[in-house]
Amino acid sequence: MSVPAKPASGPSAGKSLGTGRLELVQGDITQQDTEAIVNAANRHLAGGGGVDGAIHRAGGPAIMQELRATYPQGCPTGSAVVTGGGRLKAKYVLHAVGPVYRGVPEDAGLLADAYQACLALCTQLGIRSAAFPSISTGVYGYPVEGAAPIALRTVADYLRAHPDLALARFVLFDAKTLAVYQRALDALP
Ligand code: ADP
Repeated sequence: MSVPAKPASGPSAGKSLGTGRLELVQGDITQQDTEAIVNAANRHLAGGGGVDGAIHRAGGPAIMQELRATYPQGCPTGSAVVTGGGRLKAKYVLHAVGPVYRGVPEDAGLLADAYQACLALCTQLGIRSAAFPSISTGVYGYPVEGAAPIALRTVADYLRAHPDLALARFVLFDAKTLAVYQRALDALP
């Protein structure tokens, strides 16, 4: 299947859920102006490649300083912690730890837990808009075809039940990932 060319960023698709909205865009999560952006972090909160490296580069050293000072034990898989956004437009970064894909039944639950932990933090902190990357589908090896329905269902269910969250935007880095999320969104009940 050929994928139509998409702009580097900008609205691509969306769905209204309750009073909230779920959007899919292709782009760079560090450039988002949502109140929070989500990082695909590791258990040591130590920084890394992929989206994690990009967020720390764009946000500056304050984010890592806060992580070291506040969460020296790191963060278990399936959980999330919050820091300020440093130099980012976003006020908060939610550092979520998705599973390293092992091909076992527990993978799906841990992936859903990572999104759920971010959503709970949004409610706790009064965050009304958040941008999510495709957690675990880079270095952590989770197949996008398996991860996208879990990610979208978890966020969609939360939006339907929590009018306090107005916007959840998935920011997908490449056209192929966006296309898989698009198909999963179309199939969402
Ligand atoms: P993980 O270790 O959880 O797999 P990665 O950062 O390796 O996390 O990859 C997660 C997803 O984030 C991948 O689809 C990757 O292409 C994407 N990604 C990388 N950089 C960015 C960015 N700046 N903005 C949005 N998504 C990004």
